Amino acid sequence: MTKAPWQATVLTLYPHMFPGPLGQAVTGRALEANAWALQAVNIRDYAFDKHGSVDDTPYGGGAGMVMRADVVGASVEDALIQATPRQPRCVYLSPKGKPFTTALAKELASHEDGLVLLCGRFEGIDQRVLDHHNMEEISIGDYVISGGELAAMVVLDACLRYRPHVLGSAASLEEESFNHNLLEYPQYTRPVEWAGKKVPDVLQSGDHKKIDMWRHQQAEQTTQARRPDLWTAYCNEKGLEK
Ligand code: SAH
Repeated sequence: MTKAPWQATVLTLYPHMFPGPLGQAVTGRALEANAWALQAVNIRDYAFDKHGSVDDTPYGGGAGMVMRADVVGASVEDALIQATPRQPRCVYLSPKGKPFTTALAKELASHEDGLVLLCGRFEGIDQRVLDHHNMEEISIGDYVISGGELAAMVVLDACLRYRPHVLGSAASLEEESFNHNLLEYPQYTRPVEWAGKKVPDVLQSGDHKKIDMWRHQQAEQTTQARRPDLWTAYCNEKGLEK
């Protein structure tokens, strides 16, 4: 029997949004090849009144609607039962969550039991569901988007790059931005001259030692100029003077 693929279960009011972009290119090919599996579950299927209500007005008043604890809770419960004996990490996509980073993507990707990703809509989800299931809250950045679906896709895409059989070459991860806290060096391809600009000579020299050195310098310069936060982390890791 072949091993069950790494599984993502997405709880959403918009299951038809999936796989969406994840069904294309590298992640799409890996999905077809069974390198990972995706299940998009409609939270509305767990509504129990005749109108299929999933949201209600907030206690204490205020604008907007909140997703009901009983309905969302039942969808999480069922996802966990379906996953048994696997124990997926339970993530709620939320602007209040911890910032999503490369380190977190690697960590989630290495959890062989996969992920349950809960997508909010409206003003969000009744706090009791998050507390009851001890959900990990993850934010994709300091802005608010209208629903958790795009955030779940961002998290999944970034995780999948660290799963086996998704990227063609693992080497492409090694040099990518954020690896070791450095942004990537600039890239060039043909034509050798375009709009009066030439590809830097060193890249055409064939001297791989020199090329590596040049790229490393470029990565350091870009990181220092654009991302002082990453630069500090890089220097600390390397024990370098800032
Ligand atoms: N009232 C909430 C925002 C709700 S936005 C607040 O002020 O915190 C609706 C849903 O979109 C959220 O439940 C969440 O699932 C998703 N969402 C919005 N911004 C997000 C972000 N930066 N990261 C991850 N998910 C986000």
